Amino acid sequence: MRILVTGGVGFIGSEYVRMLLAAPGSTGPRDPQVEPTAVTVLDKLTYSGNPQNLAPVRDDRRLRLVPGDICDSALVDEVVADHDVIVHFAAESHVDRSIEGAAPFVVTNVLGTQTLLDAALRHGTQRFVHVSTDEVYGSIDEGSWSETWPLSPNSPYSASKAGSDLLALSYHRTHGMDVVVTRCSNNYGPYQFPEKIIPLFVTNLLDGGTVPLYGDGGNIRDWLHVHDHCRGIALVQQKGRAGEVYNIGGGTELTNKELTARLLQACGAGWDRVVPVADRKGHDRRYSLDITKISEELGYAPSIDLERGLAQTVRWYRENRAWWEPLKSANAPAVAA
Ligand code: NAD
Repeated sequence: MRILVTGGVGFIGSEYVRMLLAAPGSTGPRDPQVEPTAVTVLDKLTYSGNPQNLAPVRDDRRLRLVPGDICDSALVDEVVADHDVIVHFAAESHVDRSIEGAAPFVVTNVLGTQTLLDAALRHGTQRFVHVSTDEVYGSIDEGSWSETWPLSPNSPYSASKAGSDLLALSYHRTHGMDVVVTRCSNNYGPYQFPEKIIPLFVTNLLDGGTVPLYGDGGNIRDWLHVHDHCRGIALVQQKGRAGEVYNIGGGTELTNKELTARLLQACGAGWDRVVPVADRKGHDRRYSLDITKISEELGYAPSIDLERGLAQTVRWYRENRAWWEPLKSANAPAVAA
């Protein structure tokens, strides 16, 4: 099977590629059902796309990296032609950046996805896996979202992801294309760009600095290890039903304050290192996913509990300063969750 992974140099996409190719030292065993004969990564190598993320599989002869933009229809057409399956991760992914400027989010997330879908349609791609997010549902005070919940995104990021999510489903309903959509909760793990809350806080603390906590710190997120997300995507790629949406979550729900407490403890720091900052505009209060569908239909369950996953993640950042130090820049947005 020839698999095209868009955004395969980013945080989650590169974990998927390392998992597909069973990278030595990857965060867990690969799914034995995913047997690629070729893995092509199409990635624009934006600020968050670091080719170092593929270093563990660099010498695998099945891997090919094509630097390029998913909005480049000529290139996309050429690349898509040679593949059986597309797993689509490429996106602008940072909420705070979308608040500063929404244009790249609409271009990459919406137009880029449409460009890929059109190429897949032309070439009769066997399966298109669209990687979406739980943020498309909006915010929920109580209970959890099932896949039939109406979409109600609040940030330009989540609105652009909702647009691409619905576009992908429309290609199934309109053209009969084999499309599956995954909607996952917040990921953490190695190789995450140090602008998102966990790597930002860990790297600031390891450097002896402070960490900025939004508002009252009461916003709740469901934290899932990136490897569990990728295991869920692999199941959906293999066994998901065409035209269906699958929530992937089942990690641990924590307020940002509770998460901060765990990170402080893991880094041996106290609350004097926390600086409260004004809340993010339009900040979603709580995300919570119902994962009954993927659990019952595809046998999914998360395998890495938060305590173990966070300890492993903090250790990784401790041991891989050469990876993150060059990425930290003065003008990166302060916080994210
Ligand atoms: P990331 O920012 O780390 O990686 C995105 C990758 O896409 C980068 O390698 C970047 O270079 C590439 N890219 C950006 N624009 C491109 C373009 N126009 N053409 C080609 N490549 C381009 O993001 P991530 O956290 O790995 O997220 C990957 C996907 O998973 C996204 O679609 C995101 O919406 C989704 N998701 C993320 C989370 C999370 O917690 N991080 C949770 C659920 C879903």
